[in-house]
Amino acid sequence: MRTVRAAVVGGGIIGVAVARQLVRTSDDIDVTVFEKEDRLAAHQTGHNSGVVHAGLYYPPGSLKATLCRRGVELLQDFARTRDLRYDECGKVVVARDVDELDRLRTIFERAVANGVPDLKMLDADALRAVEPYARGIAALHSPHTAVVDYVEVTDALAADLRAGRGRILLSQEVVGLAQRGKAVEVSTPECSESFDVVITCAGLQSDRLARRGGDPVDPRIVPFFGEYYLVKPHKRHLVQGLIYPVPDPRYPFLGIHLTKRVDGAVMVGPNAFLSMGRESYARRAFSLRDGSASVSFPGFWRFAGRNMRVALRESRTVLSTSAFIAEARKYVPDLGVDDVVRGPRGVRAQAMDSRGGLIDDFVITGSDRLLHVRNAPSPGATSSMAIAEYVVAEALQRADLA
Ligand SMILES: Cc1cc2nc3c(=O)[nH]c(=O)nc-3n(C[C@H](O)[C@H](O)[C@H](O)COP(=O)(O)OP(=O)(O)OC[C@H]3O[C@@H](n4cnc5c(N)ncnc54)[C@H](O)[C@@H]3O)c2cc1C
Repeated sequence: MRTVRAAVVGGGIIGVAVARQLVRTSDDIDVTVFEKEDRLAAHQTGHNSGVVHAGLYYPPGSLKATLCRRGVELLQDFARTRDLRYDECGKVVVARDVDELDRLRTIFERAVANGVPDLKMLDADALRAVEPYARGIAALHSPHTAVVDYVEVTDALAADLRAGRGRILLSQEVVGLAQRGKAVEVSTPECSESFDVVITCAGLQSDRLARRGGDPVDPRIVPFFGEYYLVKPHKRHLVQGLIYPVPDPRYPFLGIHLTKRVDGAVMVGPNAFLSMGRESYARRAFSLRDGSASVSFPGFWRFAGRNMRVALRESRTVLSTSAFIAEARKYVPDLGVDDVVRGPRGVRAQAMDSRGGLIDDFVITGSDRLLHVRNAPSPGATSSMAIAEYVVAEALQRADLA
């Protein structure tokens, strides 16, 4: 059989997992990863909460629900065999009033339908036994929710890839994609190469890459930044694992939560607000191209019009540390403003349709030779190895190479 030449654009956790899956699928596939930065995992993968989500929130039967559960299995096994840090610290979702308790029950039912193991509803006393400093009238406990370091996981996946028939080209930005018959030409500023199959996993740039490959302009990526604070070491005892609020049903993000990291640090965050740069991590950084792409997109204004109240709340957390910490104090009242220092910032790639609807599920589009992962928000890192299985099977079948 002739060797199949495959390329992956993007060296985040999903791109590297997809490339590794390609080389594992057959000895007759050569894979090249193009990454525009000088290192892997430079964007979302290296700027997230590090949570291995158990699959609590997602509508049963959705890609998110299915691939998250499969992703946990694959990730847990991978971490064990590669000796990577994987801390099954558990998670509580805390309800503070009867209204939140109703919503928590719905989440519980979804989580059970999704096959999340060993879930329990806790009353206020039982919550204190799991998280002594958390306060609420009830909580959902997911004991197997875990934390990892997704940069470490990406590096381990890349090591597998390099040991097989894979090569990773860093500092190589893909500027052109063109399908000609059964071949796809991938261009960087220096050269062009032809491949049998190409899969783009470009995160915050996924809509631009897809467009270059001939896909429709929508859905667009609208970037939402998320800021974190770090709890000072003398107050880390306030958090044993992961403490989350019941999410606001009007918003796709989970709300400011407390997260233990694998290195023992405790993070508070992230909030969520429109970012004026897709890859800007400094507080006042701004990209004219990215900022004007968001504000000239009518879908964004439709979204903003519908979410004014939530946007105001989030803007307060951007402007004031007290307002930010007040969100966490609602369920961990002993946490004070003086107990935290500013931490890192991440930017979420969130796909939005032209009506201003945030697209919740994972989205994969494309032709018979050129596939695009267009929306892979949280739990994208948890699900990465399962997304890889799914996308590679789809790509090889479409190209008649299965
Ligand atoms: C604040 C925050 C918190 C999150 N928390 C969690 C969590 O706790 N658990 C979880 O499961 N998920 C979480 N997520 C989501 C998770 O981080 C993403 O789903 C996942 O990292 C997506 O991986 P990716 O490879 O698609 O994207 P990325 O990691 O963004 O990688 C895309 C890569 O493509 C490259 N690229 C783009 N354009 C080009 C081009 N033209 N040529 C070459 N290379 C290109 C980029 O440089 C980048 O390296 C969080 C995300 C954020 C932002």
